Amino acid sequence: METKNVIIIGSGPAGYTAALYSSRAGLEPLVIEGVQPGGQLTTTTDVENFPGFPEGVMGPDLMANMKKQAARFGTQYLGTWVKDVDMSKRPFKVTCENGDEFLAKTIIISTGASAKYLGLPNEMELIGKGVSACATCDGFFYRDKVIHVVGGGDTAMEEAIFLTKFASKVYVLHRRDTLKASKPMQDRAMANEKIEFIWNTEVEEILADDTGVTGLKVKNNQSGEVTERKTDGFFLAIGHKPNTDFLNGQIKLDEQGYIVPVLPPHPDTNVAGVFACGDVQDHYYRQAISAAGSGCEAAIRAERFLEENN
Ligand code: NDP
Repeated sequence: METKNVIIIGSGPAGYTAALYSSRAGLEPLVIEGVQPGGQLTTTTDVENFPGFPEGVMGPDLMANMKKQAARFGTQYLGTWVKDVDMSKRPFKVTCENGDEFLAKTIIISTGASAKYLGLPNEMELIGKGVSACATCDGFFYRDKVIHVVGGGDTAMEEAIFLTKFASKVYVLHRRDTLKASKPMQDRAMANEKIEFIWNTEVEEILADDTGVTGLKVKNNQSGEVTERKTDGFFLAIGHKPNTDFLNGQIKLDEQGYIVPVLPPHPDTNVAGVFACGDVQDHYYRQAISAAGSGCEAAIRAERFLEENN
């Protein structure tokens, strides 16, 4: 079985940046790209807040370029996902879905988090055409437009408040009549004149034509009444799920499943030689640039760990 210096699990901005740094350090990393190569950014269009691109850059292009840049210094890629990791002893054993097995002296986990979607039939195909799970990414495109946000937690409040910078009106659809969000966030959202709450309401269908989203068919779960609402944008804010199930309890997680760094500000996990970066350990910032920064940190920690423990 081949032994690698560094195996990077996951391939968004965190994973590719970790690959860039560790390949430039001569560590010949292997990136196991996972279910969604390139990560969440491959589901967005224009990225206008990644520094260095004054005209903006398409999310998939940014990811393709990051991948190419790390490949230039000897990064290898494998288009499968990790089924199992044995972290009980070093080197760690990594078993892939396609049957490949490797030993790894260090592991960098950058499997990200996935926005939760409602599971409506045309939801995924309308991403970028009126459906979004990221107000920071896409809010700018809704100047003077009407937006509906679904969710009742802190993310929904934060996204709704942020979207009022652009939209003419933001409706928050919530399935209950009380919010899950913290009191200060609720107060801020309720004090915002552009935000209106629609209670006890569930989305049944996203209405769309060739141009994208045009409306929503919603149901009041108390009265059973079904109505159609016009909208230009539909933002999902019903939570994120960190992709940590495959770790099978070997890495310390918080109650929501995010990896907990044990030596902040360093990206070390509770297992020596295993580091984490990007959204899999960050439910707060969740930005491409902060993920990339943490990928750099994880690679530098892995390099130092190898110097001390090789
Ligand atoms: P939460 O799990 O806290 O809230 C999810 C919300 O979405 C709930 O209101 C829930 O409804 C609703 N929801 C879930 N599934 C569905 C569904 N299928 N259909 C309709 N509605 C649904 O997730 P958040 O992302 O809001 O927050 C995650 C964590 O991050 C929290 O700990 C939060 O405090 C934190 N956070 C903090 C921020 C801050 O401090 N500034 C900003 C953003 C997040 P219901 O209430 O009925 O369960």
